[in-house]
Amino acid sequence: MNKQDLLPWTQQAFEAFFSAHDRQAHAYLLAGHSGLGKTVFAEVLAKTMLCQEQGNDACGRCHSCQLFESGTHPDLHVLQSEKRTLEIANLLATYAPRYLEDESKRKKRKNPSAAITIDQVRDVIPDINTRPHISACRIIILNTAEDLNINAANSLLKSLEEPPSECFFLLISHQAGRLLPTLRSRCNRIDFRTPDKALALKWLNSRLPGRSDTVDLLDRAAGLPLRAVALAEGNQIPDESRIVHTMLQLANRKIDPVTAAAEMIKDTELVDILAPIQVFIGNIIRLKFVTHTNSVRKNDDDRVLIDIGNRLNFKELFTYLDNVSVSKQLAGGPLDDLLALENDLISWQKLFHK
Ligand SMILES: [Zn+2]
Repeated sequence: MNKQDLLPWTQQAFEAFFSAHDRQAHAYLLAGHSGLGKTVFAEVLAKTMLCQEQGNDACGRCHSCQLFESGTHPDLHVLQSEKRTLEIANLLATYAPRYLEDESKRKKRKNPSAAITIDQVRDVIPDINTRPHISACRIIILNTAEDLNINAANSLLKSLEEPPSECFFLLISHQAGRLLPTLRSRCNRIDFRTPDKALALKWLNSRLPGRSDTVDLLDRAAGLPLRAVALAEGNQIPDESRIVHTMLQLANRKIDPVTAAAEMIKDTELVDILAPIQVFIGNIIRLKFVTHTNSVRKNDDDRVLIDIGNRLNFKELFTYLDNVSVSKQLAGGPLDDLLALENDLISWQKLFHK
């Protein structure tokens, strides 16, 4: 693994990292939606910084590079939750168990823990306060920073304030808006944005040769290429139908927007909520237009959407669609995702109760 393995739209940020003359920061926040290649970026960055050749790419031959790939590099430390470690089999999952609770404790729980705990942070601190073993520095990867529970985040803050001199922290975050502001402010931020559609499609077509539906996959994945690959492999975007159901309940005032927002965002990223909402509004608009101009056969699902469409005019629908698009662009950024969703749901309900 080296910089050739980076996702193409992240290569520029990688070059920028190594060409920066003032690379003084000891903590970096890799922020953006999941599905953009931040994990690969963190892995390649860590490998390159640990490489004994000290260039702007990992050499792949030195002792450090060999240990890195085998999952046994003594200067790489990974903190991630038990849940993430069980669910995603990648290089980080090979390093993470060092700081996870042992099996006897984990077995007592019904479900794997989704948090990075204070014990994990406490366990890593003595390890990073000694000199690196074989490389010029130590790297601590947190995947993801929003998994830190509040005690763990506060405990980590102290280390970020006065980091040991040869230590670099890489905090991966899919929802940087949810992090403690004090945590964010101690990090240099590297933002990952949804790539240009043409570039994403070019990559997706090379990744999925022979598939004719890559345009559709990319749309359903809200423009996030790795997520489009996951969809192609049969993974579902969580609960599209549940989100549509909630939008209908809001229109009929069966639920209040604040409760609905909290419930929706509990275990789903904002972008995964807004993408189905866009599709939902798009369908209402399409059906409203079609039923205006001619009579078509309708199924029950369509009738529900037509009823909603009848209660609104085109201008209201298009304005709302625009607002959701703006929210989606801002999702994962510095704004609070929960507040953004609350606003979108409140304005949706208001359309029906003027
Ligand atoms: Zn090397």
